[in-house]
Amino acid sequence: MKVGIVGSGHVGSATAYAIALRGIAREIVLIDIDQKLARAHAEDILHATPFAHPVWVQASDYEALAGAEVVILAAGVAQRPGETRLQLLSRNATVFQQIIPRLKAVVPEAILLIATNPVDVMTHITLRLSGLPPERVIGSGTILDTARFQALLAGHLRVAPQSIDAYVIGEHGDSEVLVWSSAHVGGLWLFAFAEARGCPLTEEVCQRIDRQVRYAAYTIIEGKGATYYGIGAGLARLTQAILTDEKGLFTVSILNPSVEGVPEVTLSLPRILGRQGVETTLYPPLSPEESEALRRSAALLKEAAVSIGFP
Ligand code: ADP
Repeated sequence: MKVGIVGSGHVGSATAYAIALRGIAREIVLIDIDQKLARAHAEDILHATPFAHPVWVQASDYEALAGAEVVILAAGVAQRPGETRLQLLSRNATVFQQIIPRLKAVVPEAILLIATNPVDVMTHITLRLSGLPPERVIGSGTILDTARFQALLAGHLRVAPQSIDAYVIGEHGDSEVLVWSSAHVGGLWLFAFAEARGCPLTEEVCQRIDRQVRYAAYTIIEGKGATYYGIGAGLARLTQAILTDEKGLFTVSILNPSVEGVPEVTLSLPRILGRQGVETTLYPPLSPEESEALRRSAALLKEAAVSIGFP
């Protein structure tokens, strides 16, 4: 099983490392406009494989992607001082305009996993540029936000995060929506479980968790300049779910026909992931406040996509 990674910077290389350590693929091909960087990462990661799994890691060109089942897109340009989000978005759209036709020529059937930020709009652009069906163009979306939400609830409730059914949906960014109203643990409503466990979810606790989920990336970037281990592990996990036809549930971002009245918008909802990509999308029941927050998130993403010419 071959996996391609286009853009071998922080996120691309961390993803390759996670895939190699977990033995998720047999072969990883790293591509970057900076070939020296791609080669250096490929060699370094290859040297980890005798301690992990027999994975062949190489840096190469697009031709070497032939036969890859999944291609991860983590290419992008850094934000310039004073540059707006929209200007950055438009430069990253240009980067994808160079990459997607080359992918289409070599791996027309591959599932594309997008990690470049702002990930929802970049996924939307990839879909439009590739002409692939929406279930095969998948953004990492709120997978990390959901993981953070579950981990923080787990800490408060003293229960394993795997036992918590709670999701973050909408934009991967400031407007994301933590779905409290339909969260469950072991069949119990989250708040009832918290009471029964003797650690109630007070207004104050909920606000703290919301803040820590929503703004985690800012704190990490302040401390080390970028975030990559978490998202790298998450992308490796999505790759595994696809390659093994797992049918696991992940809050990934794909094009939705309509969300809260906003048509054709790309954002995260809980979805079942398997060999063909996204198989099913679930719409969790929402409170009126959560519905309104999701509508705002959808409208904001739609507006960003339209403003750079990808309605
Ligand atoms: P991040 O922290 O998001 O991973 P980086 O800047 O570390 O950001 O990585 C982005 C990578 O994308 C860089 O290594 C850059 O060279 C690469 N890149 C930029 N444009 C292209 C392109 N057109 N094709 C392939 N890779 C590209």
